Amino acid sequence: MKIFKFGGASVKDADGIKNVFNVLEQVGHENVLLVISAMGKTTNAFEVVIKNYFDKSPELQASIQEVKKYHNQILMELFEDENDAVFGAINTIFSDLESFLQHNKSPNYNFVYDQIVSLGEVLSTTVVSHYFNSRGLKNQWIDVRELIKTDNTYRDAIVDWDLTQKNIKGLKKKTLNITQGFLGSDENGFTTTLGREGSDYTAAIFAYCLGAESVTIWKDVPGVLNADPRYFENAILLNQISYREAIELAFYGATVIHPKTLQPLQKKEIPLYVKSFVNPLLPGTRVSKGADLEPQASCFIVKKDQLLISLSSLDFSFIMEENISEIFGLLHKYKIKVTLIQNTAISFSICVEDKFGNFPELKNVLAKKFQVTYNENVSLYTIRHFTEAAAETVAQGKEVLVKQISRETMQIVTKEA
Ligand code: ASP
Ligand code: MG
Repeated sequence: MKIFKFGGASVKDADGIKNVFNVLEQVGHENVLLVISAMGKTTNAFEVVIKNYFDKSPELQASIQEVKKYHNQILMELFEDENDAVFGAINTIFSDLESFLQHNKSPNYNFVYDQIVSLGEVLSTTVVSHYFNSRGLKNQWIDVRELIKTDNTYRDAIVDWDLTQKNIKGLKKKTLNITQGFLGSDENGFTTTLGREGSDYTAAIFAYCLGAESVTIWKDVPGVLNADPRYFENAILLNQISYREAIELAFYGATVIHPKTLQPLQKKEIPLYVKSFVNPLLPGTRVSKGADLEPQASCFIVKKDQLLISLSSLDFSFIMEENISEIFGLLHKYKIKVTLIQNTAISFSICVEDKFGNFPELKNVLAKKFQVTYNENVSLYTIRHFTEAAAETVAQGKEVLVKQISRETMQIVTKEA
């Protein structure tokens, strides 16, 4: 069996969905499981709905209508027959949402979040499944929440591999199966999500449990590039890389593959392809086993919007294991992700990503023990397989705040000039 994953950008409008159909026509759809994300920016749009709900904002209805309008617009373009069952199916999903909002009593933001954002994937897969049927491509719509079981860490749920494996075993293999990325359910049957952009991970979970032949992530780029073309000129395609290299690239912030995806695949040596949904017959990038698959070119990764924090002891005492473990404990507690570490005897610097806006609170806690200085909005550049020339191009015209070199990797924290 092969697993194909199509992300939000590939199904962002009617043409995108038609293109998914064309891709399958070209590359074949026998023994294929399709994992699909929410259409376009639907997850973000539902996040607004959730915020309005908790804020008791008068904008709540308008924000729901916006998501509804967006989906209806796509339906109108895809289905000529106004009586197609898809219209009823989509309406039902929205009335379920209304009824959830009316009856919900849980004050747990993360719980409510998962019950609502998950509808994005339920909507997209319902549309795609009906559309394929209307084009004569028979398929089986599967509710992934009946298969992928997790704990109840809403918004960042942890997979129960044993249960999931048991459930997935029963999947019918000959038919084209269509299911949702990003979702699971807890032991009470409530929806959970696997973390933003988690649909790649879903594809890997299925691949692992099925011992699949391969996973293909279909993207709007030709494959894994050595640099993000939004920030670097002359990006080139990497034809083959090892799991290890891909994990490193994903860790440092290359966004083509979700970092959690590679581990399960590597365990069973299932190859991962990253291919273009615009040119589906091109080979793209193959990620597989092999120490010899180091890319020949330097790879450039940039993370914008980082914080560079420096902590020094108030009394010139050393910053040692004890302090450092306390600092890391706090970072973990405030869900702040460390992207670089550097320390001297009395000062400790970290580059971090504060996704949830918790730094102001953390800063107050740290200030009781340390002198805290920081730079906001810095960029962290990582160059894998660096050369001096590559490093120079990156640093050019920028103020370098930190530079760190290890055998394979150079990292530079800069303040944009
Ligand atoms: N729709 C989810 C998100 O945007 C999952 C995904 O796209 O992979 O985070
Ligand atoms: Mg998405």
